[in-house]
Amino acid sequence: MPDEEAAAFTLEHLRRMFPDLMGDRILAAHVWRAPHAQPVVERGYRRLIPDTRTPLANLFLATMAQIYPEDRGTNYAIRQGREVARAAAVTLDGAG
Ligand SMILES: Cc1cc2nc3c(=O)[nH]c(=O)nc-3n(C[C@H](O)[C@H](O)[C@H](O)COP(=O)(O)OP(=O)(O)OC[C@H]3O[C@@H](n4cnc5c(N)ncnc54)[C@H](O)[C@@H]3O)c2cc1C
Repeated sequence: MPDEEAAAFTLEHLRRMFPDLMGDRILAAHVWRAPHAQPVVERGYRRLIPDTRTPLANLFLATMAQIYPEDRGTNYAIRQGREVARAAAVTLDGAG
């Protein structure tokens, strides 16, 4: 599916949730593609898991690639987000 078609399809459904989402409020639409629908867990995956801390100050990472050994799941995404938000709050609190 071409990018424009993918964006139009997505916007159509976003407008079902947010009827006021009109053209002038949309600055740009970017279609992002990946070779796999989710991280591919291979042997020794634990060593490949990205850290929640990044080399950039105050930038944290919370992603499906860190959900392990469980498989993807919205409940795990929420858990992951909360844990990383807590770590970020502690870091930022200490920095302030
Ligand atoms: C194939 C598959 C099947 C799944 N099946 C289930 C299931 O059956 N049950 C279940 O509970 N969970 C399932 N999950 C997991 C579930 O989809 C995720 O846990 C959930 O979508 C995470 O929600 P999120 O809002 O944190 O992130 P996402 O849904 O990934 O949303 C993040 C959004 O941010 C956007 N984004 C990223 N970077 C930027 C940026 N720089 N600027 C602007 N936007 C950006 C992305 O495009 C994306 O739209 C499945 C996942 C996959 C991949």
